[in-house]
Amino acid sequence: MKNEMTLAFDSISQNEGFARVAVAAFVTQLNPTLEEVADIKTAVSEAVTNAIIHGYPDGVHTIVLRAVLRDQTVELWISDEGVGIEDVKKAMEPLYTSRPELERSGMGFMFMEAFMDQVHVESAPGIGTTVYMKKKIGAAGQEG
Ligand code: ATP
Ligand code: MG
Repeated sequence: MKNEMTLAFDSISQNEGFARVAVAAFVTQLNPTLEEVADIKTAVSEAVTNAIIHGYPDGVHTIVLRAVLRDQTVELWISDEGVGIEDVKKAMEPLYTSRPELERSGMGFMFMEAFMDQVHVESAPGIGTTVYMKKKIGAAGQEG
């Protein structure tokens, strides 16, 4: 089974909740546990919040979220065409934040990595950022 969807939405904070719920509804087809849904929602929230706050610090622009379901896995791409990240390795270090004055704590990538099986970040300054995440559903031993 393969099923794919793409959403494009404005980089406003209300859409963090929208994106999280939309992905949760989409992955329901894979019959996930509540815990798996909660994990995916958290990861999506973190990636979308980053695109809103860090990717597009000035003004409202478009965030694109693509989701692909294949057999028992979900793959997600969350993309912005914002400021980009100079040093991805450093940005992904636990507790690293470029915005301590906004009371960010540098936990976003930590959560994404903790709750998803794979996280990969493609980014270039002035071009934008894509966060790729993958998770197998049913790894806890349910049917499928
Ligand atoms: P928290 O997520 O705990 O509120 P944070 O957002 O600073 O804090 P992370 O989500 O781990 O922490 O991100 C680490 C850093 O990576 C950010 O401070 C920012 O510098 C950079 N970053 C993350 N996503 C993007 C993005 N889409 N565009 C530009 N920079 C980003
Ligand atoms: Mg963050």
